[in-house]
Amino acid sequence: MNIGQAELLTQLAGKPVLIWGARMTGLGLVRLCRTHGIEIKGFIDSDPAFSGKQIAGLPCHPPADLPEIHAQHPTLKIVVAASTKEQEINQLLLQYGISANNFINYSRYCDLFYTVDVMGTCNLKCLSCAHGAGGEQYPRGLMTLDAYQQVIDKIVAENDLVTHISLYSWGEPFLNPSLPEMVAYLHQHGIAAALSSNLSLKNEALLHKVMRENPEYLKVSLSGFYPDAYNDTHSGGDIHLVRSNMLRLRYYIDKYRLDTVVDVNYHLYNNNNRRNLDKMREFCDELGFFLSTTYALVMPLERVIEKLEGRPSPTTLALEDKLLVSVKEGIAAATVNGKNGQNSEAGCPFLENQTIINWDLSVPVCCTTFNRGPNIVADNFLAASKAEISTAKQQAAICETCQRHSLPAYNLGLNRSRWEAIAATKPSFDAPLES
Ligand code: SF4
Ligand code: SF4
Repeated sequence: MNIGQAELLTQLAGKPVLIWGARMTGLGLVRLCRTHGIEIKGFIDSDPAFSGKQIAGLPCHPPADLPEIHAQHPTLKIVVAASTKEQEINQLLLQYGISANNFINYSRYCDLFYTVDVMGTCNLKCLSCAHGAGGEQYPRGLMTLDAYQQVIDKIVAENDLVTHISLYSWGEPFLNPSLPEMVAYLHQHGIAAALSSNLSLKNEALLHKVMRENPEYLKVSLSGFYPDAYNDTHSGGDIHLVRSNMLRLRYYIDKYRLDTVVDVNYHLYNNNNRRNLDKMREFCDELGFFLSTTYALVMPLERVIEKLEGRPSPTTLALEDKLLVSVKEGIAAATVNGKNGQNSEAGCPFLENQTIINWDLSVPVCCTTFNRGPNIVADNFLAASKAEISTAKQQAAICETCQRHSLPAYNLGLNRSRWEAIAATKPSFDAPLES
């Protein structure tokens, strides 16, 4: 049951508030709290890229600081605003001696997170992605501004609390010329905007217009600093163009005093994990951008299932040669005794708390699936109620197969230290670090 905005604000009023999760959910919550005069002390985030930095004008602490902060502020209220890792974080909070009275899960007040994929295709064809995987011929197109506004209006009407919406899933949102107006429309409704881009884009005018709208969060996905590594896995992209656009972003942020958090998401492969990573980290530090690493996965879900059932496509085999953690190793790392990690009892968070709206208004089971057909739970978001979509999701046949293979845990990358231990045993084909 969605208890809603009023009760959340009542819980936080007059308390020192920390937000666990400095990405889009946390940034949306900051927007809400600031609108209602609630003071936020800062963020907690276990990602070392964020620790010790200022985010949206607030300090971000590592989890190890919690006991000291709690001692200073015994009435502390921590809001866990990390939609897919809530249970993992709850356990960590208890381990840090924070009692259950001192933290609340944002999902108690907001039961659904929305993603609107405003563009149905991408300008690149990365090997790890549906666009580079071959297989099903995907429909192409873009969401019109009119359809988008109807989608946002329906989301707002059906939910008590919406603090952020992501405007990307499988598509490159900066290919949609209406993106500036789309960000502005969210802000008109008091909703934070989360964007993601490969930034291998030649449309400087659109980039400028979008940034003028001050989106709260912009993820930049890349996989190398030098062309040899980057071009190998971001097929069709140009890292020099990406880097020049990163410089432009810094220029716009400074010139217009924007709050946008730029989060560089570095996909780790066995040919980019030493000098390339080091140089990109240095570049991000110079620009004041965050850099987080993620082990490249085989995507989308349909392709992983084919691989696990003995029908890997040639592109999947080619991709596995470049991964630091294979599909089987990733599943073993993410699960505990063959179970679905921390999600074994609660089911799949992708199933429970997310709704994706494709550019053509169809609704897929979750963000990990790509194919049309049975993995679409509603043909037209505008014509299906929230309850109808939820019921159809619960009946989706692919979920049984997915959970049987423990793929929710794999897609979440649970138990990161185990992934690191596996990756450390693998040869690297990147140049060594500069001494
Ligand atoms: S840039 Fe992103 S969306 Fe585009 S092909 Fe690569 S991984 Fe897929
Ligand atoms: S069980 Fe698998 S297919 Fe179903 S929602 Fe979760 S991740 Fe998606």
